[in-house]
Amino acid sequence: MEKIKLGISSCLLGNPVRYDGGHKLDPFLTDTLGAYVEWVPVCPEVESGLPVPREAMHLVGDPEAPRLVTIRSNVDHTSRMLQWANKKIKVLASDNLCGFVFKSRSPNSGMRGVKIYSPEGKPVGTGSGIFAKAFQDRFKLLPVEDEGRLRDPALRENFIERVFTFKRWREFKSSDKTVGGLVAFHTSHKLLIMAHSPKHYSALGKLVANPKKYRREELFERYCATLIEGLQFLATVKKNTNVLQHMAGYFKQQLSADEKRELLEVITNYHRELVPLIVPITLLQHYVSTYNVEHLKQQVYLNPHPLELMLRNHA
Ligand code: SF4
Repeated sequence: MEKIKLGISSCLLGNPVRYDGGHKLDPFLTDTLGAYVEWVPVCPEVESGLPVPREAMHLVGDPEAPRLVTIRSNVDHTSRMLQWANKKIKVLASDNLCGFVFKSRSPNSGMRGVKIYSPEGKPVGTGSGIFAKAFQDRFKLLPVEDEGRLRDPALRENFIERVFTFKRWREFKSSDKTVGGLVAFHTSHKLLIMAHSPKHYSALGKLVANPKKYRREELFERYCATLIEGLQFLATVKKNTNVLQHMAGYFKQQLSADEKRELLEVITNYHRELVPLIVPITLLQHYVSTYNVEHLKQQVYLNPHPLELMLRNHA
């Protein structure tokens, strides 16, 4: 499989670029996810010309437009950082990234929840780091997360599903820009979307069913924006259970009474959170290949990311 290009805050790869000369190596990112990813490291502070080590900084002032200021000597680095960020974003635009993993809580790289202080040093709110905000403003559809949130299994699975979906979307767009191609893309993603957001599933279905309503490029843009927005909703146990039951409905004719009972029991056990999602999925995959159910065979939902990431193994 061709590796997926993701941006990353450089210190998360173990590069010693932090203000104190240290790093924040994250073994899940380097060792596990790293097997599928070509990382594009970015350190706003070092790349904008600051040395290692350097004085630590924080965000100060208006939470809507905070300044980037060193903590001890009060040097304002905001303009330097914004100028560098604008140039860097132009370079990153040609890198074809499928997402970005930011360092949490950093005044430059934190994507959300970064503390903002008053000039007297009191917390007055939270926001995004200077570079992370510029990046998210420019690449609104790109999946982004920070390493802290990625420790939550549900958020981790959600981010990786969005990244892999974005990659498939990019590949589709560069190979087949026909309405027929869009219909095929949508068909194979139906159950995945349903597991995240039935509302977006229905909106995307309407878009694909009425392609003449929009110019071709607008149709594709609308589809991508709605898809990415829908996938941001977590695939909960309840929504996954609905999808599993929907899939089980395809085997009414083929399965014996015992097999149906067993399948239903496995889905119920998942619904009661006694077994992880991978258990009913594995059983359904077995029936899909045994009975060669064409519509289910092409569903990305059955195989949205590499099994080795073990993202569906938590109950
Ligand atoms: S958090 Fe961002 S700015 Fe700070 S060391 Fe890591 S990559 Fe550089």
